[in-house]
Amino acid sequence: MRHIAIIGSGPAGYYTAEAAQKQWGDDVRVDVFDMLPVPYGLIRTGVAPDHQSIKGVSKRYEATALSDNVRFVGNVMIGKDVSVAELQQLYDAVVIATGAPHDRKMDLPGEDLGNVFGSAAFVGWYNGHPMFANLDPDLSGDTAVVIGMGNVALDVTRILSKSRAEFAGSDIVAHALDILDTSKLKRIVVLGRRGPHQIMMTPKELGELSHLTRAAPRVDPVDLPEEGEDALLEPGLRKSVTHLRSFAAIPESHYADYPIEIEFDFFASPRALIGSAGKVEAVEVERTKVEAGRAVGTGEVYTIPASMVVCCIGYRSSPIPDVPFDERAGRFANDEGRILPGLYCVGWARRGPSGTIGTNRPDGFSVVEKIAEDMAAGALGHGGKQGRPGFDALAERRGLDVVTFRDWKKIEAQEEARAREGAPREKFVDVADMIEARKG
Ligand SMILES: Cc1cc2nc3c(=O)[nH]c(=O)nc-3n(C[C@H](O)[C@H](O)[C@H](O)COP(=O)(O)OP(=O)(O)OC[C@H]3O[C@@H](n4cnc5c(N)ncnc54)[C@H](O)[C@@H]3O)c2cc1C
Repeated sequence: MRHIAIIGSGPAGYYTAEAAQKQWGDDVRVDVFDMLPVPYGLIRTGVAPDHQSIKGVSKRYEATALSDNVRFVGNVMIGKDVSVAELQQLYDAVVIATGAPHDRKMDLPGEDLGNVFGSAAFVGWYNGHPMFANLDPDLSGDTAVVIGMGNVALDVTRILSKSRAEFAGSDIVAHALDILDTSKLKRIVVLGRRGPHQIMMTPKELGELSHLTRAAPRVDPVDLPEEGEDALLEPGLRKSVTHLRSFAAIPESHYADYPIEIEFDFFASPRALIGSAGKVEAVEVERTKVEAGRAVGTGEVYTIPASMVVCCIGYRSSPIPDVPFDERAGRFANDEGRILPGLYCVGWARRGPSGTIGTNRPDGFSVVEKIAEDMAAGALGHGGKQGRPGFDALAERRGLDVVTFRDWKKIEAQEEARAREGAPREKFVDVADMIEARKG
């Protein structure tokens, strides 16, 4: 029997569990740990609440989670409640699938001012991550600046733009809906250092900006390259740029019907956040030009008034004591998923924050191949590890309050039962409430 511990129950964790099942069938026992009492990582706390069809991928993970040889071990933080070294003593292989939960810093003056948020925090807030439930952003000003030209920046912009009615059918949490309802925003500036041909936004997400009931997108036509140059782009990016061209063609009269403008500010590199009394009031920006794909400052500096700022410029993994970490790359030091024989990483913890949910699947399968290779080479010892019973004994000695998958199903049932009309669920946003809810 092989015993495998996976740290993290997001896509990478569950794809790895699925791959282990396919590889070893009944000859494997997999424990999937999560620090939260609820599974699925960013499917629950990252993917936008108004994109329910994408969140539906969790049904696939549930099928894996419900099989006899895979079990969910929630409410256990590895590195705090239990060390990686302890797991290594109990399991033949330990796989880190902890994602990249921290915002990459911009390293700009004023970054710590009030009403300035990283996207991990802001997205976590509207998606009910317990760590960010109390964020309490102030939306009483009129201009938000969203820094970044990727899909997360689009998610944040769209969520800031929508009316209460447009959240029908979503699982946005009540505290966020209530604050968004009071929003006085009139302008959302999406700031990017480079130009339309360098965006990381996908066409579907960009196209959604054309269908908002109270916000309209604006692109300055002078920012767009010659149309003929679009032919050189890969098809997805070309489609996205076509959306930008259609935004640039919107007649001025159209904006009178929309209380919020979403303004794309290309070739714009933030230099500092400026504020008073501890709160952000403006973003100082340097105009750039793109040379050989890189943004180069032109020396022209201007200021955008900003009552709030959300930075969507990427994420970092969180180091775990005694596990080699690549500080520069912000992820675990690894060679194609192998940290060392017996210790592996997958998903964002392995690659950094890139790719779609599906990108994590081949990662999971390839790490299981590495484990199988190391086992076959005798690099993981000769079996005899205790696996589950060993962990259960440790958890009991340490007084850990482990949440099982069956407990999660009770929490889920309660979340569904308390959903507002038309919504799939109303999430618990506090760990204590989740634990209480498992009583059923
Ligand atoms: C805002 C946002 C929106 C996105 N939207 C989309 C989308 O629409 N479509 C798409 O294809 N992709 C989307 N993605 C990307 C997708 O979410 C990721 O590719 C995927 O979630 C990465 O999976 P992961 O398992 O590596 O990490 P995660 O999903 O982050 O899972 C990591 C898990 O590890 C747990 N964990 C962390 N540390 C510990 C610890 N020490 N002990 C125990 N558990 C721990 C966490 O609680 C979490 O459950 C989005 C990402 C973000 C940030």
